[in-house]
Formats: sequence, C-alpha cells, structure tokens
Amino acid sequence: MSQSWDIIIVGAGIVGAACAAECASAGMTVLVLDRGPMAGGTTGAGMGHIVVMDDSEAQFALTSYSRALWRRLIPELPADVEYDSCGTLWLAADDQEMAEARRKQEYYTQRGVAVEVLDSAGVRDCEPNLRCGLAGGLLVPDDAVLYPPCAARFLLEKARSHKAEVRLGVAVLALRADGTVTIGDGSTLSAGRTVNATGPWSPELMPGLPVRKRKGHLVITDRHPGFVKHQIVELGYLKSAHSAGKDSVAFNIQPRKTGQMLIGSSRQFDQEEGEVDYALLHRMLSRAFEYLPTLGQLSAIRVWTGHRAATPDKLPLIGPSLLGDRIWLATGHEGLGITTSLGTGRLLADLLLNRPSAIPAQPYAPARFADGGNHHD
Ligand SMILES: Cc1cc2nc3c(=O)[nH]c(=O)nc-3n(C[C@H](O)[C@H](O)[C@H](O)COP(=O)(O)OP(=O)(O)OC[C@H]3O[C@@H](n4cnc5c(N)ncnc54)[C@H](O)[C@@H]3O)c2cc1C
Repeated sequence: MSQSWDIIIVGAGIVGAACAAECASAGMTVLVLDRGPMAGGTTGAGMGHIVVMDDSEAQFALTSYSRALWRRLIPELPADVEYDSCGTLWLAADDQEMAEARRKQEYYTQRGVAVEVLDSAGVRDCEPNLRCGLAGGLLVPDDAVLYPPCAARFLLEKARSHKAEVRLGVAVLALRADGTVTIGDGSTLSAGRTVNATGPWSPELMPGLPVRKRKGHLVITDRHPGFVKHQIVELGYLKSAHSAGKDSVAFNIQPRKTGQMLIGSSRQFDQEEGEVDYALLHRMLSRAFEYLPTLGQLSAIRVWTGHRAATPDKLPLIGPSLLGDRIWLATGHEGLGITTSLGTGRLLADLLLNRPSAIPAQPYAPARFADGGNHHD
C-alpha cells in the first residue's frame, strides 16, 4: 500500500522548516521535500535580521508576532543559531528622516513595542564608528540577529523530533490540485494537503503565482568584534525596500557573533542570475562608507547574492491556494522571511487545524490575488 502524509511541504528553507515544525508538533504526519540541501536557497543567502517593520498593519502584526515567537524560543536555541538580541538602530540622516523616526516611535509605542528616539550625540554614543552629523535615530532594543541556515536546521530537527520525515535531493516536478506531487524519479506521493514553500521558485510549480525574484547582494568582512554593536539600518532603507521600479541600495550592517560584519543591501528585479553586479556592489559599499567612514579598512572575505520572493503588496502568501484546498502556499516573504518564518508556520498550522490564531490570517490569504494580482508597484 502506498504511503500518504497529512502534509507534504515542498521546500526546506526556513519557511518550510517552520511550517514542518508547527505541523509535526501539532500531531500531523509531515514529509518535507527539497531538491537541494536544507537552507540551500534564499535562507542560506539571507541576513538573519529579526526585525519589526511597519509598512502596513498586517506587516507589523506578522513581524511583531514572529519576533515574540523567536524570543520565546531563545532558551531552546542551540549556540550555532547565534541568536543575538543586539537591537536595531535606525539612522536618521536629516530632519525628514528624523520625522520618520518619531512617527515610528509613536506607532511602535502605541502597539507595545519598546523603542527609544536618540539625538545626534545619542547615536554616536551607541555606535562611535558612525560619521558625525547624523540627525539622530531610533533604537529598537528587542530586535535581534541570527544565523539563518542553523536556525532552519534547528526547526527541521524539531520537526523530526515529532516524527516528520525530511528527504533532501528530491526535486518536485509537479503539484496537482488533488494534493499529489510528482517527484524527480517520476513517482507520485500523496498527502491530505501539499504546501508550496519554495520561496522565489514557487511560480515554477504554480505558473501565474504573483511572486517575483528580487535579487540582493551581501558582503561579509573578516573579524572585527565590536566594530558595530547593533544592526544598523538607514531610514532611507525604507525608500529602497519600497522602490519597485529601479535598482536600489541602502546602508544596512549587521554584527555577527563571530565578530564579522555583514553588509547589505541591494534590491533588483528582473535579475534571474546569481552573478555579482560590481557596479551595484560599488554603490552599495559606497553608501555604507558614507555612514561608517572607517569601514573600508576592514577586509571583505566574501560577496554573494540571493533572491527574495516578492509579492505585489509586500505581504506573504499563507493558506489555501487558488488551485483549491489541497494545495497550500507559504511563500512570498521578500526580505522578511527569516523574521516571519515562525509566524507563518504557526498561522499555517492554525488554519489547517481550524484553531484560533493570535493574529488575523486573512491579510496573507492567497485569495486576495484572485484577480491575478500580477502588478508590482
Ligand atoms: C540579500 C538578502 C537579505 C535578506 N535579509 C533578511 C533579513 O535580514 N531578515 C529576514 O527576515 N529576511 C531576510 N531575507 C529574506 C529571507 O532570506 C527569505 O525571506 C527566506 O529565506 C525565505 O525562506 P523560504 O524558506 O521561503 O525560501 P528558501 O530558503 O529559498 O527555500 C526554498 C527551498 O525550496 C527548494 N525548492 C525550490 N524548488 C523546488 C522544487 N521544485 N522541488 C523541491 N525543492 C524545491 C529550494 O531548494 C529551497 O531550499 C533576505 C534575503 C536576501 C536575498
């Protein structure tokens, strides 16, 4: 008799891993499939900033809920996840950005997220390597950073401890509306429901899905412990993250527990290949040197790229797909999938089990794109 699972999850990135951990802990039988190694996709290329963002109420709800879930997990996280509650320091270069820092302060405070507005001297006290003359900033002390591949492995191990099966090196060729999947050797696997958690590749299995690849570059330096102590992001980053049309860069730096500095970030649509764009890299690093004038004295040891899975409204797709109730989605997390993986897994399991959820799941429902939604603006 052929085997069947309650849930087949396609994709062993951090989102698939979080979904697997939640579903398996809730007692479902789970199979995870990935054509590569675990975390070999965007998860292995991302930055690992656990950050509350407020582009929309729904984005705030999912990021703050997910950050709370990460904080609850801290006692269980192994050392190699390198969870570091270093906080985010948002930088305001001028009065206009300072007004944005104050708006954010009000918004976050009203919703119970701790923040502190800093003036020019306060920012320099926090991070002495920053250039002089910044207007100020906003400190979000409970934001954090972690090492995404090990976080994904931890979540998959958690799933395995609840009897989930993980098969790596198994490509899925097709998903069918009846919940069955065809894998690379031509055989068919069946499940009550199948979840497409293949991130930027999700439209390959479901043509027409409103998910586009958005390329990003990162640079890592050799070890300079304490060069910066917070994840530092320019408030202008928000303009970069929002600009859909053209290539954009913004200053974003992360201190790793290893003492290395991880420098980002860039955003480009319509760049399917992974090669480094040296002109864009130059722009990205020049931007970083504007904020940290002595950063150029550190040695860069590796540069790489990854693709974010972008949706038109900058919210992920979580729940039953337009193909019916047997094919579900957990994709489209753009630049926030490390943060929102835990919230995604929890919401998916809540929906599957008809449990009440801590935040409304409706803003992330794939049904919002019933008209196709293929415009990214
Ligand atoms: C430069 C950059 C910086 C980022 N920084 C941050 C950050 O600081 N904080 C944050 O929260 N997020 C960040 N992100 C976003 C984050 O990395 C992603 O949102 C997250 O990793 C998405 O995880 P995923 O599991 O959905 O996708 P992936 O990790 O891409 O996993 C998808 C998996 O599906 C597999 N797959 C694909 N097709 C098939 C198939 N046909 N059959 C079987 N398997 C298949 C792939 O092999 C892959 O392992 C960043 C992303 C980039 C590119």
